[in-house]
Amino acid sequence: MTRRVFRRTILVSLLLLGAAGAASYTVKAGDTLYYVARANGTTVAELTRLNQLAGTALEVGQVLTLPGSTPVAAPPVSAAPAPTLPSTGTSSLQGVTVRVPSNLKMGDGFTLRLSGARAGQATVRFPSEVGEDVRKPNEVLKPIGAAGEFLVPGRVVLGKTTPVVYEVSVGGDLVRGQIPVTGLDQPIQHLNLPVSVTNKLQDPARAAEEAAVEKAYARRTPQVWSRPFAPALASARGTSSGFGQPRTYLAGGPVAYHYGTDYPAPTGTSVLAVNDGTVVIAGKYPVRGNLVVIDHGAGVVSMYFHQSRLLVKVGQKVVRGQKLGEVGTTGLSAGPHLHLEVRVRGEATNPAGWMNRLWPR
Ligand SMILES: [Zn+2]
Repeated sequence: MTRRVFRRTILVSLLLLGAAGAASYTVKAGDTLYYVARANGTTVAELTRLNQLAGTALEVGQVLTLPGSTPVAAPPVSAAPAPTLPSTGTSSLQGVTVRVPSNLKMGDGFTLRLSGARAGQATVRFPSEVGEDVRKPNEVLKPIGAAGEFLVPGRVVLGKTTPVVYEVSVGGDLVRGQIPVTGLDQPIQHLNLPVSVTNKLQDPARAAEEAAVEKAYARRTPQVWSRPFAPALASARGTSSGFGQPRTYLAGGPVAYHYGTDYPAPTGTSVLAVNDGTVVIAGKYPVRGNLVVIDHGAGVVSMYFHQSRLLVKVGQKVVRGQKLGEVGTTGLSAGPHLHLEVRVRGEATNPAGWMNRLWPR
């Protein structure tokens, strides 16, 4: 990869910069359509259209046409008319009742709940994810049995206010529904970070950092938690930058969403696991600093950025409330704080929606 392309890749993946891409891209091992789209400042929908792709599967060596350096008009988000679907929060098919929240905000994690005799045999998809910048869109999901119900965690991508469409199949039967989504309505925060800090975006180790977190996002392991999620700091003093906050890093720079919640705290404050799980990342990276990632199973991971020191190792099982490390200001950080993320199948959800709950609403 040339230096020029590499620099664009790291900027785009962090800042969602809409840069014009090169003319073509050759697929490498581990690439996803989503990743290639993000890295080249385009979308899955645009790559699908330009390359007349039938699905999201890629083969190593496949050459993808990228949008040219001349700006092109954005295609409509979806060519299909909005389907007429129930949005009452409940729908049913023979032997299965489906319950979902009646409305959502962008960045929400949520829970689709199935009950009835055939609920355990159902599969669930979210077809509205096709064309959105979602890792593994429209994945076939097996519900998780829990106290007489079967559950599937869902997520609403930051920046999307189109309805979430869900589809539940049992045998040959199928029911679809949709959930309206509203925005977060936050003013843009201008961080104006010094160049000495934003230079970390250019660090050559950024590629390894992104590869490591993408691998964590791709994990699909059984649910291991059985108690509600708990705060990562014993006594938080509010937040300095909220979840989903649109912000710029440099004056006049592009707007990016904040995928986590920032909790200011003195260096050395204990960072605690929000729930039971397995440590899948524990190491130092240019942007996230000293980072711990815990896989809780069910496609849910929690991430703890910028720590001053780490006390856990990859592969270690941890329990809710266990000390993982200490607050610091390592990586792309302007002062001591914990940046906490809770991701569902790789997409950021509002940590507040999980706290003191087994599952988000
Ligand atoms: Zn943050």
